Amino acid sequence: MAAGALYSLMMSNQEEIRQRLLARQEELETLLRQHGENSLQSGGDDVQDEIDQVNTLEAKTAALSLSTREFKALEDVRSALQRLDEGSYGNCIVDDEPIEEARLRAIPETPYCIHHAEEMEKQATADSEQTFLDA
Ligand SMILES: [Zn+2]
Repeated sequence: MAAGALYSLMMSNQEEIRQRLLARQEELETLLRQHGENSLQSGGDDVQDEIDQVNTLEAKTAALSLSTREFKALEDVRSALQRLDEGSYGNCIVDDEPIEEARLRAIPETPYCIHHAEEMEKQATADSEQTFLDA
């Protein structure tokens, strides 16, 4: 009975969540398209002195890390929409535990419960620090 009640609660929220995810998807796609156009425009310069090259490199790196973050968010949004269609939305993809409803309202695209979100956050931070050292 408890599971049935939870299921109908989820059903009543699903359309709202889907609309939010679709809006977020569109927003991220627009942002990524804009970044793509900017990097194309700044890529065509023939002659640059060293300072210009450094500035361009910094700008590109900044744009790239922004795009990477948005790209990751877009992937989360798309996979959330997919899980919504499959009926597995709302459960953590690591341990299949229900994600807190307040958490889903705050971040509808999250694939993790709070416990695993923290773990992934730590992992992602460690990864990006490692990338920095390698570069
Ligand atoms: Zn979990």
